[in-house]
Amino acid sequence: MIIDLQPANIPVHFVTCSRFPIHPINPGNPSSDMKNFEVPIIYRSPLISAIKKKRKEMDKMKKDFTPTLLDFGPLQIYLARHFGFCYGVENAIEIAFRTVEENPGKKIYLLSEMIHNPQVNADLQSHGIDFLQDTHGRQLIPFDKVTADDIVLIPAFGTTIAIEKMLKEKGIPTEEYNTTCPFVEKVWNRSEVIAKKDYTIVIHGKPNHEETRATFSHAAANAPSVVVRDMKQAKELAKYITGEKEADNFYEEFKGQYSEGFDVGRHLERIGVVNQTTMLASDTQAIADFLKQTMIEKYNLASGIEIHFADTKDTLCYATNDNQGAVIGMLETKADLAIVVGGYNSSNTSHLVELCEEKLPTYFISSEEKILTAKKILHYNFHTKQEVLTTEYLPAKQPLKILITSGASCPDALVEGIISKIVTYFDVKKNIAALIEQFQ
Ligand code: SF4
Repeated sequence: MIIDLQPANIPVHFVTCSRFPIHPINPGNPSSDMKNFEVPIIYRSPLISAIKKKRKEMDKMKKDFTPTLLDFGPLQIYLARHFGFCYGVENAIEIAFRTVEENPGKKIYLLSEMIHNPQVNADLQSHGIDFLQDTHGRQLIPFDKVTADDIVLIPAFGTTIAIEKMLKEKGIPTEEYNTTCPFVEKVWNRSEVIAKKDYTIVIHGKPNHEETRATFSHAAANAPSVVVRDMKQAKELAKYITGEKEADNFYEEFKGQYSEGFDVGRHLERIGVVNQTTMLASDTQAIADFLKQTMIEKYNLASGIEIHFADTKDTLCYATNDNQGAVIGMLETKADLAIVVGGYNSSNTSHLVELCEEKLPTYFISSEEKILTAKKILHYNFHTKQEVLTTEYLPAKQPLKILITSGASCPDALVEGIISKIVTYFDVKKNIAALIEQFQ
């Protein structure tokens, strides 16, 4: 969609001390009740706020997934319909900065990274917040150092029952400083419902991801649980369901991914699948369909699948669905390259990269600094987990068409910074400043 972008009132938010309910919306119906969060203005982009506001006004029901064209003449940038900070991330950032503001002199810790964005995490650290664990759960500061006088923020991914219990035993209040996203809690609730019906819980997620570790902990408190990383692992799990593989091998093959007391002989007869909220929608669907079919074949079922497979929908969150849908919509535009912005350890961002790189050269970058010159770009290969240098990444053609999106933990200001930098490499009549002015 090429829209005529009109001037818009751009909301400007500063951090204040006002109190907000932590979970004020219904996670089942986010679009109807979304609230405005107060996050530091440095994360906002006047240009992108105006574009998002305009698109929202024109498409209240979120049915239009076509990108927004920023036409600079020799350079055409197509911005995805949905990208950037999601509900859970804004909620977490608001609570974290408010906590700093309201508690001068107090020691404030975060259990681990607040969200998967290096700039936001560095900003929190510069405000005196220390991280107790790294993103893989390795201890950075011993829990022994934390006292009842301290504040411990629980990140948007949530945490394990064991850590929650440990904090409570230390007398550390967890409710007020818990930024767990309601959409993550929704997965835990779904697990509980499945568990009550005596299904084993299969969690499709990255085993070492904070959210999946938290979800596994909550699921395992209610039912036998096992994590599958991807379709490859789902296929291996299916071999234990059908008996094609010896049960004894399971414990080595799925080491660290199953709950205590897991009995392969008994606990794979009835299963239900939940997901890490940020997985690739097509993978999630394919894995659930595959495991369901495995049950149908194993038990020779013409009907009554619910005896062996809990028939539930996926537990991807609204932001994952919106952002992936917007990338699919954006990819219908024939373009020369795509830029995806976000933290390199961000799961939801890597899935946007995955979708783009199937169709065109894609550069996954964390900030404008990675664009070194018009000829060189440093970008992350999430398959090899290495940053690589590519030269001549901007093809010499006009107009050059670039698709841009970002992950749910990426500030819009970073995307605007990237657009501003790329624009300087072209002889454009309309620069970013002029474009922003148009909306003010
Ligand atoms: S990506 Fe989804 S689940 Fe994760 S913080 Fe954002 S809204 Fe919550």
